[in-house]
Amino acid sequence: HEVLRLEALKKSYNIGQPNEIEVLHGIDLRIDNNDFAALIGPSGSGKSTLLNVLGLLDKPTSGELYLLGQATSNMDDAGRTALRGGSIGFVFQFHHLIQAFTALDNVLMPLMLTKGRPNQSAIQKARDLLASVGLEKFANTKPNELSGGQQQRVAIARALITEPALLLADEPTGNLDTVTAAEVFELFRKVNRERDCGVLLVTHDPRLSASCDRTINLVDGLIESDSLNVKKSES
Ligand code: ADP
Ligand code: ADP
Repeated sequence: HEVLRLEALKKSYNIGQPNEIEVLHGIDLRIDNNDFAALIGPSGSGKSTLLNVLGLLDKPTSGELYLLGQATSNMDDAGRTALRGGSIGFVFQFHHLIQAFTALDNVLMPLMLTKGRPNQSAIQKARDLLASVGLEKFANTKPNELSGGQQQRVAIARALITEPALLLADEPTGNLDTVTAAEVFELFRKVNRERDCGVLLVTHDPRLSASCDRTINLVDGLIESDSLNVKKSES
């Protein structure tokens, strides 16, 4: 099913009145919950801007963004936050884990922010998620005692605790070595297959984008191409 749809979406930044620069020039795009897509494009082409708009972290200048069928342009901040919270999870290159918290408490963070103290079922859910990313033994470990790949796994578990329909990931393997990056990538694959959760990841790595099902190529603020990738087994 459709998670996000953009229609004629434009985004400008104010760089001191009266100057504006338009970064996204009219984007039409649909992302479904079974998508496994890469967002690629040259540095400065607008990928981060697009990701921020898709995640409702930043507002478009014009056009419309539908999240789960709901137009978002006329929503207030509280409405946008509520809609985003139940439907989109974020994973960043630098995972922004809280160093003073255990892995388990980091995974519980999104629930604590919205619902306060977690109950037993929330704690069990977080444990199950840690197990599903291969970290069942590390629930009580702090992030700085984990490897980079393990930390990114915690960040993925954290992004999944709200049962999102879509994960947005900005260079999620960008600071990992090749082998660890491939393992984390496979984890996104598994999440996509097993949880009915769409994945859109920004990457500079052509091997990663080729391993996705779909590649969206952004050039100078416009989608230059958006195509399904040929499966490796068929080539
Ligand atoms: P952000 O996602 O925060 O916009 P980017 O990854 O687009 O960050 O780029 C951050 C900085 O790193 C930019 O100055 C960009 O020129 C540089 N950069 C990013 N990716 C590459 C790359 N693959 N090769 C060279 N420079 C890069
Ligand atoms: P990418 O992620 O593809 O590297 P970005 O979305 O980070 O591209 O940036 C696209 C363009 O928008 C760049 O020219 C960048 O300088 C500009 N830009 C990004 N964020 C801002 C901002 N907050 N204010 C002004 N210009 C910005």
